[in-house]
Amino acid sequence: MRYCKKCVMPNTRPGISFNEDGICSACQAYENRKNVNWENRWKELESICDKYRGMNGDAPDCAIAVSGGKDSYYQVYLMKYLLNMNPILFSVEDNFPMTNAGVHNLKNLSEEFACNIVSMKPNIQAQKKIMRYMFEHYGKPTWYIDRLIYTYPLYMANKFNTPLIVYGENVSYEYGGKDANETYSARNQLSNGVASEVDEAELIENTGVSSKDLYFTRTPKDEELNKLDPIYISYFVQWNSFKNYEFAKKHGFHDLTHEWDRTHHVENFDQIDSRAYLVHSWLKYPKFGHGAATDYSSRMIRYGLITREEGIEKVRKFDHALDPKCVQDFCEFCNYSEAEFWKIVDSLYNKDLFEKNEYDCWVLKRPIWKKL
Ligand SMILES: [Zn+2]
Repeated sequence: MRYCKKCVMPNTRPGISFNEDGICSACQAYENRKNVNWENRWKELESICDKYRGMNGDAPDCAIAVSGGKDSYYQVYLMKYLLNMNPILFSVEDNFPMTNAGVHNLKNLSEEFACNIVSMKPNIQAQKKIMRYMFEHYGKPTWYIDRLIYTYPLYMANKFNTPLIVYGENVSYEYGGKDANETYSARNQLSNGVASEVDEAELIENTGVSSKDLYFTRTPKDEELNKLDPIYISYFVQWNSFKNYEFAKKHGFHDLTHEWDRTHHVENFDQIDSRAYLVHSWLKYPKFGHGAATDYSSRMIRYGLITREEGIEKVRKFDHALDPKCVQDFCEFCNYSEAEFWKIVDSLYNKDLFEKNEYDCWVLKRPIWKKL
C-alpha cells in the first residue's frame, strides 16, 4: 500500500491513480479547481436550464435524485431558487430502521423547499435475499439499494418527461475512481463502480429472486437513456461537503449530535439515515484497507480544515472500528447472528493488505502511521 503525499488516501482505492509526485487523482482534481473559470461554468448551467425551464407547463421541468442528506438540500435550493426550475424529487428509501435525523431530514426537505418527493420503497423480500448473497460473496450487501439509487430516477424522469436530471457530485472525479473524467454529463454514472451491473442469471439462480424482481436494477434501454440529460452539479459549482452541511443546517437539517456517536466515522453528518446501511461502506476497510475515516479525513485535508498529521491520527483511531449499532441493525434485518456476521467479515479481509496480530485481530501490514 502507498499513500497520497497530500491526503491520506491509499492506492488501493478502486480506480484511483497517483502522479509521479505521489499525489492522488482526487487531490489533483481539487488542485485543478484554481484553473477553472467558475463564472463560465455557472453560465453553462444557466443555459442548460434555459433549454428545459417551463417545458411541461405547471408540471415539473427537471428531476433531482435526492437522499434527504445535506447535499440534497443544496441541490434543491440551487435548482429551485437560483435557477428558477420546477423540480420533482426522486428518492429510494431503503427498508432499514431509520435514524431520527434521517426521518426528519427528508420530511423537512419537502417542507423547507416546497417540493414533491416521489419515493420508492423497494421490495423487501428481494432486498433481503440479495443482501445476504452479495454480502457473503462480494462484501457488497447494499448493492440492490445502491443500484436502485442510480437507476430509479432514470426510469422516473422518463415517466415525468423531465429529461434534465440532476445529481450531486461526480464521485469518481472528485474523490478518485473509475472513468474519472471532468464532465458535466452523468451519463456514465452507472459504470462508476459504486453499483455496477451484476450477472442476473447468477442472482436468480443463487438467491431465489425472479427476473421481474430485478427489473428496476437494469440500465434503461438506450432509446430511453438517450432522451435524458443527466448532469453533475459538481461540474458547475465548487462542490464542498462541509459547505453543503453548513448550508443545510441553516435550513433545518439535523446531524447526529445527541443521537448517535459513530465509532468509525470522523463526522456526524454524512450517510446518517440508517445504521445498517453503513456496514456496506465500512466493508471497504477489510477489502481495500480504508474506510469512512480515510475518505473524510482526506476531504478535510484538501479543504484545509485539518493537517495531514491530524488526518493520520483520525484514520488510526476510527477507520477499523465498525460501529456495533450498525452490526446489530444489519444482523436483525438480514437474520444473521452476530457470530455469523463476523465470520463472513473475516472471510472478506484482503490477505495481501492485512495480517493477524497477537489478539487474533486483523491489522494493516502497512498502515499510514508506520514509518517504513
Ligand atoms: Zn490525495
